[in-house]
Amino acid sequence: MNKNTGIYIHIPFCRRKCNYCDFYVITNKTLISRVTQNIINEIRLASENYSNITFKTIYIGGGTPSIIPFKELEKIIDSLHKYLDISEIDEFTIEVNPEDICEDKDLIRNYAESGINRISLGIQSLNNSDLKFLSREHDRRQALKSIEKCKKYYNNISTDIIYSLPTQNDRSITYSVKKMVELKIPHISAYTLTYEPETIIYKKLIQKKLSMKPDSKAAKQYFLISDFLIECGYQHYEVSNYSIPGYQSKHNLNYWDNGEYIGFGPSAHSHFGGKRWNNHKNTARYNIELQENKSPYENFHTLSKTERETEYIMLKLRSGGIDTEEYCVEFRKDFENHYKSYIKVLTENSYARYEKGRFRLTLKGYSIADEIILNFTSKIY
Ligand code: SF4
Repeated sequence: MNKNTGIYIHIPFCRRKCNYCDFYVITNKTLISRVTQNIINEIRLASENYSNITFKTIYIGGGTPSIIPFKELEKIIDSLHKYLDISEIDEFTIEVNPEDICEDKDLIRNYAESGINRISLGIQSLNNSDLKFLSREHDRRQALKSIEKCKKYYNNISTDIIYSLPTQNDRSITYSVKKMVELKIPHISAYTLTYEPETIIYKKLIQKKLSMKPDSKAAKQYFLISDFLIECGYQHYEVSNYSIPGYQSKHNLNYWDNGEYIGFGPSAHSHFGGKRWNNHKNTARYNIELQENKSPYENFHTLSKTERETEYIMLKLRSGGIDTEEYCVEFRKDFENHYKSYIKVLTENSYARYEKGRFRLTLKGYSIADEIILNFTSKIY
Protein backbone atom coordinates (compact mmCIF):
# COMPACT_ATOMS: atom_id res chain seq x y z
CA MET A 1 0.00 0.00 0.00
CA ASN A 2 1.25 3.50 -0.78
CA LYS A 3 2.23 5.68 2.15
CA ASN A 4 0.84 9.09 1.21
CA THR A 5 -1.56 10.06 3.93
CA GLY A 6 -4.20 12.68 3.22
CA ILE A 7 -6.40 14.93 5.36
CA TYR A 8 -10.05 15.46 4.46
CA ILE A 9 -12.16 18.14 6.14
CA HIS A 10 -15.93 18.11 5.69
CA ILE A 11 -17.71 21.46 5.91
CA PRO A 12 -21.38 20.43 5.96
CA PHE A 13 -23.01 23.80 5.17
CA CYS A 14 -24.89 24.74 1.99
CA ARG A 15 -27.18 27.65 1.14
CA ARG A 16 -29.91 25.09 0.42
CA LYS A 17 -30.01 21.46 -0.55
CA CYS A 18 -29.87 20.88 -4.32
CA ASN A 19 -32.56 18.55 -5.60
CA TYR A 20 -30.13 15.80 -6.72
CA CYS A 21 -27.77 15.88 -3.73
CA ASP A 22 -27.43 13.01 -1.27
CA PHE A 23 -24.39 14.31 0.65
CA TYR A 24 -24.66 15.16 4.30
CA VAL A 25 -25.38 18.91 4.32
CA ILE A 26 -27.12 21.37 6.63
CA THR A 27 -28.42 24.85 5.89
CA ASN A 28 -28.45 26.45 9.36
CA LYS A 29 -25.56 28.89 9.10
CA THR A 30 -25.86 29.96 12.75
CA LEU A 31 -24.02 26.72 13.57
CA ILE A 32 -20.90 27.61 11.57
CA SER A 33 -18.69 28.83 14.43
CA ARG A 34 -19.71 25.93 16.69
CA VAL A 35 -18.92 23.33 14.05
CA THR A 36 -15.64 25.11 13.19
CA GLN A 37 -14.63 25.01 16.85
CA ASN A 38 -15.47 21.32 17.06
CA ILE A 39 -13.51 20.48 13.92
CA ILE A 40 -10.56 22.16 15.65
CA ASN A 41 -11.29 20.16 18.82
CA GLU A 42 -11.37 16.98 16.77
CA ILE A 43 -8.02 17.76 15.12
CA ARG A 44 -6.47 18.47 18.53
CA LEU A 45 -7.95 15.33 20.06
CA ALA A 46 -6.75 13.11 17.21
CA SER A 47 -3.30 14.66 16.90
CA GLU A 48 -1.50 12.27 19.25
CA ASN A 49 -2.56 9.29 17.08
CA TYR A 50 -0.81 10.80 14.07
CA SER A 51 2.28 12.37 15.63
CA ASN A 52 4.58 10.31 13.39
CA ILE A 53 2.70 11.02 10.15
CA THR A 54 3.78 13.64 7.65
CA PHE A 55 0.65 14.39 5.64
CA LYS A 56 0.93 14.95 1.90
CA THR A 57 -2.44 16.33 0.79
CA ILE A 58 -5.34 18.29 2.27
CA TYR A 59 -8.83 18.43 0.78
CA ILE A 60 -11.54 20.70 2.18
CA GLY A 61 -14.86 19.49 0.79
CA GLY A 62 -18.53 19.48 1.64
CA GLY A 63 -21.19 20.75 1.52
CA THR A 64 -19.88 24.08 0.37
CA PRO A 65 -16.66 25.14 2.12
CA SER A 66 -16.74 28.55 0.40
CA ILE A 67 -19.92 29.41 2.33
CA ILE A 68 -18.09 29.80 5.64
CA PRO A 69 -16.41 33.15 6.42
CA PHE A 70 -12.71 33.07 5.65
CA LYS A 71 -11.82 33.86 9.29
CA GLU A 72 -13.49 30.57 10.34
CA LEU A 73 -11.63 28.61 7.68
CA GLU A 74 -8.40 30.27 8.74
CA LYS A 75 -8.88 28.96 12.29
CA ILE A 76 -9.14 25.40 10.93
CA ILE A 77 -6.01 25.84 8.79
CA ASP A 78 -4.13 27.28 11.80
CA SER A 79 -5.12 24.25 13.87
CA LEU A 80 -3.79 21.89 11.17
CA HIS A 81 -0.45 23.70 11.38
CA LYS A 82 -0.53 23.57 15.17
CA TYR A 83 -1.52 19.94 15.73
CA LEU A 84 -0.45 17.92 12.65
CA ASP A 85 2.68 17.72 10.53
CA ILE A 86 1.64 19.41 7.28
CA SER A 87 5.13 20.68 6.47
CA GLU A 88 5.31 18.58 3.28
CA ILE A 89 1.87 19.19 1.82
CA ASP A 90 2.12 19.28 -1.96
CA GLU A 91 -1.57 19.63 -2.78
CA PHE A 92 -4.12 21.62 -0.80
CA THR A 93 -7.58 21.77 -2.40
CA ILE A 94 -10.77 23.57 -1.49
CA GLU A 95 -14.19 23.04 -3.09
CA VAL A 96 -15.94 26.29 -3.93
CA ASN A 97 -19.22 27.35 -5.51
CA PRO A 98 -19.41 30.07 -8.18
CA GLU A 99 -21.91 32.27 -6.30
CA ASP A 100 -19.60 32.58 -3.28
CA ILE A 101 -16.60 33.48 -5.42
CA CYS A 102 -18.66 36.15 -7.21
CA GLU A 103 -20.09 37.64 -4.03
CA ASP A 104 -16.90 37.91 -1.95
CA LYS A 105 -14.25 39.88 -3.79
CA ASP A 106 -11.44 38.84 -1.44
CA LEU A 107 -12.19 35.14 -1.03
CA ILE A 108 -9.96 33.68 -3.75
CA ARG A 109 -7.04 35.95 -2.84
CA ASN A 110 -7.44 34.92 0.82
CA TYR A 111 -7.38 31.25 -0.17
CA ALA A 112 -4.24 31.74 -2.26
CA GLU A 113 -2.50 33.58 0.60
CA SER A 114 -3.40 30.86 3.10
CA GLY A 115 -1.53 28.12 1.21
CA ILE A 116 -4.46 26.53 -0.65
CA ASN A 117 -2.99 25.66 -4.05
CA ARG A 118 -5.85 23.98 -5.90
CA ILE A 119 -9.47 25.01 -6.49
CA SER A 120 -12.32 22.62 -7.25
CA LEU A 121 -15.12 24.69 -8.73
CA GLY A 122 -18.68 23.33 -8.74
CA ILE A 123 -19.74 24.55 -12.18
CA GLN A 124 -21.92 21.51 -13.20
CA SER A 125 -23.00 23.06 -16.52
CA LEU A 126 -22.73 26.23 -18.55
CA ASN A 127 -26.36 26.08 -19.65
CA ASN A 128 -28.94 27.90 -17.56
CA SER A 129 -31.65 25.30 -18.23
CA ASP A 130 -29.43 22.54 -16.75
CA LEU A 131 -28.52 24.69 -13.74
CA LYS A 132 -32.19 25.42 -13.14
CA PHE A 133 -33.04 21.72 -13.40
CA LEU A 134 -30.34 20.95 -10.81
CA SER A 135 -31.65 23.80 -8.59
CA ARG A 136 -28.19 25.30 -8.36
CA GLU A 137 -27.75 28.78 -6.91
CA HIS A 138 -25.57 30.08 -9.76
CA ASP A 139 -26.19 30.76 -13.42
CA ARG A 140 -23.96 30.63 -16.50
CA ARG A 141 -22.80 34.25 -16.06
CA GLN A 142 -21.65 33.61 -12.49
CA ALA A 143 -20.00 30.34 -13.52
CA LEU A 144 -17.88 32.11 -16.14
CA LYS A 145 -17.12 35.03 -13.83
CA SER A 146 -15.98 32.68 -11.05
CA ILE A 147 -13.62 30.86 -13.44
CA GLU A 148 -12.14 34.20 -14.44
CA LYS A 149 -11.66 35.20 -10.79
CA CYS A 150 -10.06 31.86 -9.87
CA LYS A 151 -7.67 32.09 -12.81
CA LYS A 152 -6.19 35.33 -11.44
CA TYR A 153 -4.65 33.34 -8.58
CA TYR A 154 -4.68 29.70 -9.68
CA ASN A 155 -3.50 27.48 -12.55
CA ASN A 156 -4.53 24.33 -10.76
CA ILE A 157 -8.31 24.42 -11.16
CA SER A 158 -10.78 21.58 -11.45
CA THR A 159 -14.38 21.92 -12.58
CA ASP A 160 -17.23 19.44 -12.17
CA ILE A 161 -19.82 18.84 -14.83
CA ILE A 162 -22.93 16.66 -14.82
CA TYR A 163 -24.24 14.92 -17.93
CA SER A 164 -27.30 12.84 -18.88
CA LEU A 165 -29.70 15.47 -17.55
CA PRO A 166 -33.20 15.44 -19.05
CA THR A 167 -32.57 19.07 -20.12
CA GLN A 168 -29.38 18.21 -22.06
CA ASN A 169 -28.79 17.10 -25.60
CA ASP A 170 -25.46 16.11 -27.12
CA ARG A 171 -24.92 19.64 -28.41
CA SER A 172 -25.46 21.34 -25.05
CA ILE A 173 -23.21 18.98 -23.10
CA THR A 174 -20.51 19.38 -25.76
CA TYR A 175 -20.85 23.15 -25.44
CA SER A 176 -20.10 23.08 -21.67
CA VAL A 177 -17.11 20.79 -22.06
CA LYS A 178 -15.67 22.71 -25.03
CA LYS A 179 -15.96 25.99 -23.18
CA MET A 180 -14.01 24.58 -20.23
CA VAL A 181 -11.27 23.39 -22.56
CA GLU A 182 -11.21 26.80 -24.26
CA LEU A 183 -10.84 28.39 -20.82
CA LYS A 184 -7.82 26.09 -20.23
CA ILE A 185 -9.24 24.31 -17.17
CA PRO A 186 -6.60 21.62 -16.53
CA HIS A 187 -8.81 19.16 -14.63
CA ILE A 188 -12.41 18.17 -15.38
CA SER A 189 -14.61 15.72 -13.47
CA ALA A 190 -17.67 14.56 -15.41
CA TYR A 191 -20.39 12.68 -13.54
CA THR A 192 -23.59 11.14 -14.82
CA LEU A 193 -26.72 12.27 -13.01
CA THR A 194 -27.77 9.65 -10.48
CA TYR A 195 -31.19 9.45 -8.92
CA GLU A 196 -30.38 8.60 -5.30
CA PRO A 197 -33.23 7.62 -2.96
CA GLU A 198 -34.08 10.51 -0.59
CA THR A 199 -33.42 13.15 -3.25
CA ILE A 200 -36.11 15.38 -4.75
CA ILE A 201 -35.40 14.24 -8.30
CA TYR A 202 -35.80 10.62 -7.22
CA LYS A 203 -39.24 11.40 -5.80
CA LYS A 204 -40.16 13.19 -9.03
CA LEU A 205 -38.99 10.18 -10.99
CA ILE A 206 -41.18 7.85 -8.96
CA GLN A 207 -44.12 10.23 -9.36
CA LYS A 208 -43.41 10.23 -13.12
CA LYS A 209 -42.90 14.01 -13.06
CA LEU A 210 -39.65 13.60 -14.93
CA SER A 211 -38.04 10.89 -16.97
CA MET A 212 -34.54 9.54 -16.84
CA LYS A 213 -32.29 9.48 -19.91
CA PRO A 214 -32.01 5.89 -21.14
CA ASP A 215 -28.65 4.20 -20.39
CA SER A 216 -27.76 4.16 -24.08
CA LYS A 217 -28.06 7.99 -24.30
CA ALA A 218 -26.11 8.49 -21.06
CA ALA A 219 -23.37 6.18 -22.39
CA LYS A 220 -23.31 8.09 -25.69
CA GLN A 221 -22.70 11.36 -23.81
CA TYR A 222 -19.99 9.69 -21.74
CA PHE A 223 -18.18 8.62 -24.93
CA LEU A 224 -18.71 12.05 -26.44
CA ILE A 225 -17.11 13.80 -23.44
CA SER A 226 -14.27 11.27 -23.12
CA ASP A 227 -13.38 11.24 -26.82
CA PHE A 228 -13.41 15.02 -26.99
CA LEU A 229 -11.24 15.53 -23.89
CA ILE A 230 -8.75 12.83 -24.91
CA GLU A 231 -8.48 14.45 -28.35
CA CYS A 232 -7.73 17.76 -26.61
CA GLY A 233 -4.79 16.18 -24.73
CA TYR A 234 -6.47 15.27 -21.44
CA GLN A 235 -5.59 11.99 -19.74
CA HIS A 236 -8.57 9.89 -18.71
CA TYR A 237 -7.11 8.70 -15.43
CA GLU A 238 -10.24 7.59 -13.56
CA VAL A 239 -13.75 6.65 -14.74
CA SER A 240 -15.02 10.23 -14.23
CA ASN A 241 -11.80 12.27 -14.19
CA TYR A 242 -9.66 13.88 -16.88
CA SER A 243 -6.61 16.07 -16.59
CA ILE A 244 -3.88 17.53 -18.69
CA PRO A 245 -0.51 15.92 -17.72
CA GLY A 246 0.72 17.07 -14.33
CA TYR A 247 -2.72 18.13 -13.05
CA GLN A 248 -4.16 14.87 -11.73
CA SER A 249 -5.69 15.21 -8.28
CA LYS A 250 -3.06 13.83 -5.90
CA HIS A 251 -5.50 13.64 -3.01
CA ASN A 252 -8.05 11.64 -5.01
CA LEU A 253 -5.36 9.46 -6.56
CA ASN A 254 -4.48 8.44 -3.03
CA TYR A 255 -8.11 7.35 -2.44
CA TRP A 256 -8.14 5.39 -5.68
CA ASP A 257 -4.80 3.84 -4.82
CA ASN A 258 -6.46 2.53 -1.65
CA GLY A 259 -4.26 4.87 0.41
CA GLU A 260 -4.75 6.22 3.91
CA TYR A 261 -6.53 9.41 4.93
CA ILE A 262 -8.02 10.97 8.03
CA GLY A 263 -11.33 12.81 7.89
CA PHE A 264 -12.47 15.59 10.22
CA GLY A 265 -15.94 17.16 10.46
CA PRO A 266 -19.48 15.73 10.56
CA SER A 267 -19.86 12.59 8.39
CA ALA A 268 -16.18 12.60 7.29
CA HIS A 269 -14.73 9.17 6.46
CA SER A 270 -11.30 7.83 7.40
CA HIS A 271 -9.13 4.90 6.31
CA PHE A 272 -6.03 4.27 8.39
CA GLY A 273 -4.10 1.29 9.73
CA GLY A 274 -6.37 -1.30 8.08
CA LYS A 275 -9.46 0.30 9.64
CA ARG A 276 -12.30 2.39 8.31
CA TRP A 277 -14.70 4.63 10.16
CA ASN A 278 -16.84 7.69 9.72
CA ASN A 279 -17.87 10.56 11.97
CA HIS A 280 -21.48 10.98 13.08
CA LYS A 281 -23.68 12.06 10.22
CA ASN A 282 -25.57 14.30 12.59
CA THR A 283 -24.14 17.67 13.53
CA ALA A 284 -25.82 17.86 16.94
CA ARG A 285 -24.37 14.46 17.92
CA TYR A 286 -20.97 15.42 16.44
CA ASN A 287 -20.91 18.62 18.52
CA ILE A 288 -21.96 16.88 21.75
CA GLU A 289 -19.28 14.18 21.47
CA LEU A 290 -16.53 16.71 20.87
CA GLN A 291 -17.66 19.05 23.63
CA GLU A 292 -17.24 16.05 25.93
CA ASN A 293 -13.77 15.43 24.44
CA LYS A 294 -14.86 12.16 22.83
CA SER A 295 -14.02 11.01 19.32
CA PRO A 296 -17.13 11.47 17.12
CA TYR A 297 -16.72 8.10 15.38
CA GLU A 298 -19.26 5.54 14.27
CA ASN A 299 -18.92 2.37 12.21
CA PHE A 300 -15.32 1.95 13.35
CA HIS A 301 -14.13 -1.41 12.11
CA THR A 302 -11.14 -3.44 10.98
CA LEU A 303 -11.44 -4.47 7.37
CA SER A 304 -11.67 -8.19 6.73
CA LYS A 305 -9.60 -9.75 3.94
CA THR A 306 -12.69 -9.95 1.72
CA GLU A 307 -13.53 -6.29 2.36
CA ARG A 308 -9.95 -5.25 1.58
CA GLU A 309 -9.97 -7.26 -1.63
CA THR A 310 -13.37 -5.87 -2.67
CA GLU A 311 -12.19 -2.31 -2.10
CA TYR A 312 -8.92 -2.97 -3.89
CA ILE A 313 -10.63 -4.32 -7.02
CA MET A 314 -13.26 -1.58 -7.01
CA LEU A 315 -10.83 1.32 -6.62
CA LYS A 316 -8.16 0.00 -9.00
CA LEU A 317 -10.57 -0.92 -11.79
CA ARG A 318 -12.08 2.57 -11.66
CA SER A 319 -8.65 4.15 -12.07
CA GLY A 320 -5.22 2.91 -13.22
CA GLY A 321 -5.94 -0.83 -13.17
CA ILE A 322 -4.84 -3.85 -11.13
CA ASP A 323 -1.12 -4.46 -10.76
CA THR A 324 -1.24 -8.27 -10.89
CA GLU A 325 2.02 -8.73 -8.94
CA GLU A 326 0.93 -6.33 -6.18
CA TYR A 327 -2.44 -8.13 -6.03
CA CYS A 328 -0.69 -11.47 -5.61
CA VAL A 329 1.44 -10.12 -2.72
CA GLU A 330 -1.53 -8.41 -1.00
CA PHE A 331 -4.04 -11.26 -1.28
CA ARG A 332 -1.91 -14.38 -1.87
CA LYS A 333 -3.93 -15.16 -4.95
CA ASP A 334 -3.04 -15.30 -8.64
CA PHE A 335 -5.36 -12.68 -10.19
CA GLU A 336 -5.10 -14.03 -13.75
CA ASN A 337 -5.79 -17.57 -12.72
CA HIS A 338 -8.57 -16.85 -10.23
CA TYR A 339 -10.64 -14.73 -12.66
CA LYS A 340 -9.44 -16.45 -15.84
CA SER A 341 -12.75 -16.97 -17.65
CA TYR A 342 -14.14 -13.50 -16.87
CA ILE A 343 -10.85 -11.82 -17.87
CA LYS A 344 -11.08 -13.69 -21.19
CA VAL A 345 -14.61 -12.37 -21.84
CA LEU A 346 -13.58 -8.81 -21.01
CA THR A 347 -10.38 -8.75 -23.06
CA GLU A 348 -11.90 -10.50 -26.09
CA ASN A 349 -14.71 -7.96 -26.15
CA SER A 350 -12.42 -4.92 -25.65
CA TYR A 351 -13.74 -4.04 -22.20
CA ALA A 352 -10.27 -4.47 -20.69
CA ARG A 353 -6.64 -4.97 -21.64
CA TYR A 354 -3.23 -5.61 -20.10
CA GLU A 355 -0.91 -2.63 -20.06
CA LYS A 356 2.55 -2.62 -18.42
CA GLY A 357 1.68 -5.41 -15.99
CA ARG A 358 -1.70 -3.94 -15.15
CA PHE A 359 -5.14 -5.24 -15.98
CA ARG A 360 -7.20 -2.16 -16.76
CA LEU A 361 -10.53 -1.20 -18.21
CA THR A 362 -10.81 0.46 -21.60
CA LEU A 363 -13.16 3.38 -22.22
CA LYS A 364 -15.80 0.81 -23.21
CA GLY A 365 -15.17 -0.98 -19.90
CA TYR A 366 -15.25 2.28 -17.89
CA SER A 367 -18.74 2.95 -19.29
CA ILE A 368 -20.04 -0.16 -17.47
CA ALA A 369 -17.47 -0.16 -14.64
CA ASP A 370 -20.01 -0.77 -11.86
CA GLU A 371 -21.32 -3.93 -13.53
CA ILE A 372 -17.79 -5.27 -14.20
CA ILE A 373 -16.70 -4.57 -10.62
CA LEU A 374 -19.75 -6.37 -9.27
CA ASN A 375 -18.96 -9.39 -11.41
CA PHE A 376 -15.38 -9.51 -10.10
CA THR A 377 -16.25 -8.99 -6.45
CA SER A 378 -18.98 -11.63 -6.55
CA LYS A 379 -16.22 -14.12 -7.42
CA ILE A 380 -14.05 -13.33 -4.38
CA TYR A 381 -13.76 -16.30 -2.01
S1 SF4 B 1 -24.06 22.72 -3.32
FE1 SF4 B 1 -23.19 20.64 -3.60
S2 SF4 B 1 -23.12 19.73 -1.56
FE2 SF4 B 1 -24.49 21.52 -1.45
S3 SF4 B 1 -26.52 20.71 -1.75
FE3 SF4 B 1 -25.79 21.34 -3.75
S4 SF4 B 1 -24.81 19.50 -4.62
FE4 SF4 B 1 -25.08 19.13 -2.43
